Amino acid sequence: MSETRYIFVTGGVTSSLGKGILASSLAKLLQLRGYTVTIQKLDPYLNVDPGTLNPYEHGECFVTEDGAETDLDLGHYERFLNEPTSQANNVTTGRIYQSVISKERHGDYLGKTVQIIPHITDEIKRRIKILGSKGKYDIVITEIGGTVGDIESLPYIESVRQLKRELGSKAVVIHLTLVPYLAATGELKTKPTQHSVKLLLEAGVQPDILVLRTEHEIDTSVREKVALFCNVDLDAVVQSINVPSIYEVPIKMLGEKLDLTVMKKLGLDSNENIDLESWNDFLDRLNNPKHSVTIGLIGKYVELRDAYKSIAEALVHAGAENLCDVEVEWIHSESLEADNINEKLSKLNGIIVAPGFGHRGMNGKILAAKYARENNLPYLGICLGMQVAVIEFARNVLNLQGADSTEMNPKTQFPVIDLMEHQKGITDYGGTMRLGAYECRIIEKDSNTCNAYNKLTVYERHRHRYEFNDSYREQFIQAGMLPVGVNPETDLVEIIEIPSHKWFVGVQFHPEYRSTVLNPHPLFVDFIKYSLVK
Ligand code: GLN
Repeated sequence: MSETRYIFVTGGVTSSLGKGILASSLAKLLQLRGYTVTIQKLDPYLNVDPGTLNPYEHGECFVTEDGAETDLDLGHYERFLNEPTSQANNVTTGRIYQSVISKERHGDYLGKTVQIIPHITDEIKRRIKILGSKGKYDIVITEIGGTVGDIESLPYIESVRQLKRELGSKAVVIHLTLVPYLAATGELKTKPTQHSVKLLLEAGVQPDILVLRTEHEIDTSVREKVALFCNVDLDAVVQSINVPSIYEVPIKMLGEKLDLTVMKKLGLDSNENIDLESWNDFLDRLNNPKHSVTIGLIGKYVELRDAYKSIAEALVHAGAENLCDVEVEWIHSESLEADNINEKLSKLNGIIVAPGFGHRGMNGKILAAKYARENNLPYLGICLGMQVAVIEFARNVLNLQGADSTEMNPKTQFPVIDLMEHQKGITDYGGTMRLGAYECRIIEKDSNTCNAYNKLTVYERHRHRYEFNDSYREQFIQAGMLPVGVNPETDLVEIIEIPSHKWFVGVQFHPEYRSTVLNPHPLFVDFIKYSLVK
């Protein structure tokens, strides 16, 4: 294709309408029509990246292959598109200001007054166009975080205005809003949408397409009203009705011809047939399960499900692969005590101990690992979940009383999990962990892990500072907890297993980041498969 096309997705009325899912669904359809597509998220907060944010703020921090700590929407992009994203796919206001200010210190602005317009907006536009300039993508979709009208979003909306002016018919703006239903009068109300479009117009941006989130079907007369009042074509008023699974949204958007409308506006051919076979096959499996399991997800942020988004989605993918309905029981690690553990965990078919930082809830996580080990219950420990399994084994099998991670107890007599050598002396929190994809070699062919992966070399993404302390390796092996995967360069232990157990696997990395609709992660698939075995 000659020139990259740009699609901007903005949101109005309220947050959490699903801009990320809309962008992912549209991208999927365009990808299936033969275009190369990538999606970018612009976040209007001042943090340089979400790596230092508490998960209660915006949910999980997603990690890309190249080690960027990013917004969880990038996880959706990867799960839908089946393509990796990178640092360039997530930009925050903090990062924009950081680069403008460092250019100013460097003298790059030649004595000019540095201002929001044009310096901040130029930097925003540069970050948007970077993805298109590589010649890799036919279409770049840029999702603007936040809601139109927020002070924080203003420079982004202004950048969209300027880009639309520069790019002409090579850019479209899709605005996602809410059409609420008033039960008392039985009506769908379009006024919030009209107001939100007015806000966009005040900023000089006329949306080309409106996507209306709704709980009830929107009929033609309401669509006509929105089209007239908001100055868009009737076929550019698209309904996005609530669906049971986010993975149904591309099908709904196809039904609304959103992809064709976008292509028409961007001057793109639409003769390519759309091949939805594998997507529909996944939905078929998802919607027609033959089995069911209950998996306990033990974490300290379970009040906010988004804190474990990628794990929850990896379980959906693995469930569909196994034709199994996976019910997740969200268990707060602080609610687990020695005297309630049996009652709380006895109905589960498998246990996941989630990643995490700091000592809050550690006791409950250790009790959960012990319960899984002693009751032959499938266990998947992810990052801190692996470290917890190691600590539990050290305390209760190796009899190393008070064994711990030095993260939780720097003075422990038995530091079975310890700070990585190169992490010692680091004082900054942001972007300083072991991040991104590293090679892992499976060293035990006769292991559940090897069976699951069916290969000996894998690449998995990391986000941690602590590691298995190698000086205890022999003791663990003698007592029956084996390192089955290591980093080939450093020999760091990446995967542990208990071979005498049905399925007990701890991984220092985050397999959940790599699970997609078309490539469910093998460890999650195997975990669910074994959770089904009585
Ligand atoms: N807090 C642990 C570490 O830094 C585990 C991190 C995680 O679970 N992502 O090593």
